[in-house]
Amino acid sequence: MKIVDFAKDQGGSKNGGNARPDRMKILEFGDGANKARIAPAIEVRPAAAPAPEPRWEPVSAPTASLAAAPKPKARSPFVGTRSLKMHVLDLGKLRLDKNFMVANSTVAMAKNPNPPGKLIDIPVSAFYIEHPDGNVLFDTGCHPDWAGPNGRWPQNLQDVFPVIGPDDCYLPHRLEAMGIGPNQIRHVVLSHLHCDHAGCIEFFRKSNIIVHEDEFAAAATHYAKRDHSTPYALRDFETWTRLDLNWREVGKLEPDHNIVDGVKLLNFGPGHSYGMLGLLVSLRDNPNVILAADACYTSENYGPPMKPPGISYDSIGFARTIQRIRALAEHNKADVWFGHDIPQFESLRKASEGWYE
Ligand SMILES: [Zn+2]
Ligand SMILES: [Zn+2]
Repeated sequence: MKIVDFAKDQGGSKNGGNARPDRMKILEFGDGANKARIAPAIEVRPAAAPAPEPRWEPVSAPTASLAAAPKPKARSPFVGTRSLKMHVLDLGKLRLDKNFMVANSTVAMAKNPNPPGKLIDIPVSAFYIEHPDGNVLFDTGCHPDWAGPNGRWPQNLQDVFPVIGPDDCYLPHRLEAMGIGPNQIRHVVLSHLHCDHAGCIEFFRKSNIIVHEDEFAAAATHYAKRDHSTPYALRDFETWTRLDLNWREVGKLEPDHNIVDGVKLLNFGPGHSYGMLGLLVSLRDNPNVILAADACYTSENYGPPMKPPGISYDSIGFARTIQRIRALAEHNKADVWFGHDIPQFESLRKASEGWYE
């Protein structure tokens, strides 16, 4: 960098009268050559022709599939220390309109104003867990005497979702066929008290009957009011009140905890019904399993995207529970076994064929 003195360069004398009084200095960067600074000529271009108005052109659809690639499943961590065996019990089916399971399964539209409803047969199930510290049963299915004018279920329930299955499809027959008596079950966990899950509670007089406190209160309220419009079978409830059952209520704020080693009670709270419970079962040779029951009926409800059922007590609670189940499944590398999923239940090994451990 050097200082260039304009007055000197132009040959003027420092003392001469021609000297410019206001000597101008500029700072120049470079190798010292005082090059003339010529402003670049401004090119004047003719004004561009106005752009044509954009036309409404659709974007062609992407050709690649938007479906996410399935993630490989890591091996499940075995979180229990004691080995257990889980038996899947097939307790017949319910025949009902699919709109109960997935809302808006049948939708009328101008070109199809009266679409037929879709009747489907959904599985009813229970799970018997053989454990060295005390056997656990999750859900109990329907009462064998659900039908008829003196049946446990009111006529509206008998009409809306009748049981389809042989006479021996009910829980007492299934356990008896395995050589198991009611007193061999230490804990009966009820996902909730609807008639297709709580129908056989009365057979377990010595067991702990584990139910969410809000579910018990709701069923008791419907019973007190003689309200037959819900899926609680009030004749079942009446029978329970006449027995000295060992109810163990789960508080709404009670955290998830092990009932026995490797069998964790999941306190889902309100959603499908007033107070939902599930189980996380830790298996040694198979993926861990979350028994979701009606907290999530089917894989279609689970999604993603989550699809709501036709009826639920608390639809926001239902959605929140699905998110919770998804997080639990990821964290525990667990499969989710849904409450009434036809293809999934068909794929499971039933008690007559073996067990999961
Ligand atoms: Zn239910
Ligand atoms: Zn159900």
